This record gives sequence, C-alpha cells and structure tokens, in this order.
Amino acid sequence: MGFVDETYKRAESERIINYHFDVAAGKINLDHAMWELLKMPFREIKVHIPLRMDDGRLEIFVGYRIQHSQARGPMKGGIRYHPDVNLGEVRALAAVMTWKTAIANIPFGGAKGGISCNPKELSLAEQERLTRAFVSRIDDNIGPNLDIPAPDVNTNPQVMAWIMDEYTRRHGYTPGVVTGKPVELGGSVGRNEATGRGVMFITKEAMKDAGKAMEGATVAVQGIGNVGAHAAKFLAEEGCKIVGISDSRGGIYNPGGLNIRKVIMHKEEKDTLKGFPDADYITNKELLELPCDVLIPAALEGVITGENANGIKAKMLVEAANIPTSPEADDILLDKGVYIVPDLLANAGGVVVSYFEWTQNLQASYWEEDRVNRKLHKTMLDAYGILKDVAAQNKVPLRTAAYAIAIEKVAKAIRLRGFLHA
Ligand code: NAD
Repeated sequence: MGFVDETYKRAESERIINYHFDVAAGKINLDHAMWELLKMPFREIKVHIPLRMDDGRLEIFVGYRIQHSQARGPMKGGIRYHPDVNLGEVRALAAVMTWKTAIANIPFGGAKGGISCNPKELSLAEQERLTRAFVSRIDDNIGPNLDIPAPDVNTNPQVMAWIMDEYTRRHGYTPGVVTGKPVELGGSVGRNEATGRGVMFITKEAMKDAGKAMEGATVAVQGIGNVGAHAAKFLAEEGCKIVGISDSRGGIYNPGGLNIRKVIMHKEEKDTLKGFPDADYITNKELLELPCDVLIPAALEGVITGENANGIKAKMLVEAANIPTSPEADDILLDKGVYIVPDLLANAGGVVVSYFEWTQNLQASYWEEDRVNRKLHKTMLDAYGILKDVAAQNKVPLRTAAYAIAIEKVAKAIRLRGFLHA
C-alpha cells in the first residue's frame, strides 16, 4: 500500500486489446493515420494523492484518469480501487469503454480511472478522504459534459456519492458528474444491478440461438462482486443452475446447483465462501474448469489464457468481466467450438443504465424501474442483433465484429467532427 514508484511497462490487457484492434482494423481497411490515432488515448492524467491515515501517518497513493475518446460524446468509464491498478491497465480499460459505448449505441466516449490501493486495508474514513482528494486533483477534467465516472472493482454507490459531493462543493450541484450513485442522490433505479441483468439478457438470447433451454442449464461464475452476484441471481431466477461461484480466494461447487441467495448472504456475513454448506470448496483454477454449459468470468482481466483454455469445458463463455480472455485462449476456445460473447457487449448493461441515469440527471426527472429494465433489454438485444449479423456476414467471431463495428463508428464520428476532438 502507499506510494508506488512505477516504471511503466505495457500491461497484458493492453497487449490483448491492441491485438483485437489490429485484427478488426485490418478487416475494415482502416487508414493508417486513423489506425494510429484510435489506439492512443485523448488524455492521460496521473496524480499523486497524499492521504492522512487514521493513525496520523501520511501515505501517498497514485491515481489515474485515462480519457480515451470523446468523439461520440462525453467520456465514460468506471473508477477502480485495487493494488494492481497501473497506467497500462487503465489505458486498456479506457479504450474498451470507447468501443463498448459505440457497440451499445449510446452517445458517450470512453475513459477509465483508478487508484493503486488496497481498499480492504483502508478504513471507511480513509477511503472517503482518499476519494475526495482524488476528485480535488481531477475535478477540472471531469463533469457531465466532459467525463463521467462510475463504479468498477472495489468502488460502489457510496464512493460515487463522495465523488458527487466533492465535485458539487467545487462546481455547484451536479448529480450528472457520476453514475451509479445511490438513488437517494439522483442515482437510477436498476443501475446497481444493471451489468448483471444485461449479462442475463444476453446469455438468455445466446442460449435461445443455440437451441438450449435456460431451465436447468448449468452455469459457473468467477467473482461474486457486483457483476457476478447479480448475474448469478438473475440467471438462477431464469431457471439456470449455478453450479459454482468464486471470490479472489477460492470458490464453491455443487453439481446439483447452489442456492445463490444463501451464497450471497453467506459471503456478506462471513466475507468468505468457505464453510458454505452442501458445497465443495475449490480453487479458482478448478472453477474455470468446471463441467457446465455457461462460464461467466466476472472478476479481473487476463484470467483465461493459452495455458488454461484447454481445460475449459463450458460450451459458452459470456464475458462479464472486462478483457478476461487472451487472444491465445480465444483461438483455443473457438477451435473447440465454444461460443464466446465478448466483453464489449456482454457487460455493457452497466454503462447503458449509466446513460439512462445521466439523462435522468440532466432532465431532473426520474424513471420507474420497469422503464429502465425494458429499455436496457431493448438496447442490449438491438446491439447483439447487429453484432451477430455483422459476424455472420463477414464470417468472423463476435469479438472481431464488435471491434470492427465500434472502430468504424468512432472513426466516422472523428471524420465528421475533425481530428481535434478525437
Ligand atoms: P467487484 O469489486 O464488485 O467484484 C469483484 C469480484 O471479483 C469480487 O468478488 C472479488 O472477490 C473477485 N475477484 C477478484 N480477484 C479475483 C480472482 N483472481 N479470482 C476470482 N475472483 C476474483 O467488481 P465488479 O464491479 O463486479 O467488477 C467485476 C468485473 O466486471 C470487472 O472486470 C469490471 O471491470 C467489470 N465490469 C463492471 C461493471 C460494473 O457496473 N460494476 C460494468 C462493466 C464491467
């Protein structure tokens, strides 16, 4: 924890997204200048954040906000608190947001932020001071018409409330500066669950296409945070059997299906999955290799690699996490006939409802949950329909189609606007 004297080295997630970008850009004959431009972020912000700890010590943390593109609208993307946060990772995740908002057809660009810290070692008061100090260093470069943060790994509606409050203190009442806020502060109903609900919508549609029933389909989920827990809950409500789920330390397995509500309560109460009755405790490696119909990585990047892809037995991979799969793993899984729904679509539900939240904030008029969920469903399925058509017409995997559609859209916006606002 604390000050990181960092020598930049290219993150694995950057290698992965640059690979996918190059494959897709090659398919659409993107001109050289646009090719180079779209791989570079618009702006990179790195800040040093001094934090007075509860015991009086001063520690310095490193924070980032990488703004990849605002060609299609204000930049949008989460803020992550994790010890592994680094420049390369945030860069990659910022670019992913540009492509994701384009696929979802919502009027945003892409950005991402993070602080290299271990929030589990920080008190709530320290987390609040750290968040407010971070905002004090980036507030001139965020805002409802410029860049709108949201929750990501280890951040939540409470952190968004602090960001909103600190920004408001400096710039006047501005609920639209962040999304994923508590509903009491202008958050949208349905936002907290939206990424998991979107994962369920897409899984259901993909299962339908594959001629498979949801009832009794077996699902393994890596990660029991916001996205994993909600996805598992909604899939169980659709009749799926959640046979395995994990956190960073390990997972649990029951081939007959886990009672996911009880699992979530157990995790909340005990902060571990260990000791959950009627289930075997397994490693995360074992979780990825469980026999199941659908595997849902919902934790961190780069977990499915050339080394472990051969062991995967699922027939469908729905990428709820960002950048979970390496290109080498992609090749192995596609050869095995695994149907892969890429992150750019599978986890777009969160940013889609963030868009709904932002429009509600701008209009100061709030929607009912039914409207949020109906519009989320339509947005996700429309995007998936286009993706499938483009993939089928061009005989490419969904991932290549997703990158190609997104790159073309952003390139067109840049050509129409002029290069200055790429
Ligand atoms: P979270 O902090 O709520 O949960 C992360 C979960 O992953 C936790 O259960 C943690 O224990 C688990 N985990 C961490 N390291 C792990 C490991 N090595 N193996 C297994 N599990 C591990 O975060 P989240 O918001 O649910 O985000 C999860 C993923 O979804 C990330 O890739 C994030 O970028 C992506 N995502 C999140 C949102 C959102 O709305 N929150 C939207 C789109 C994509």
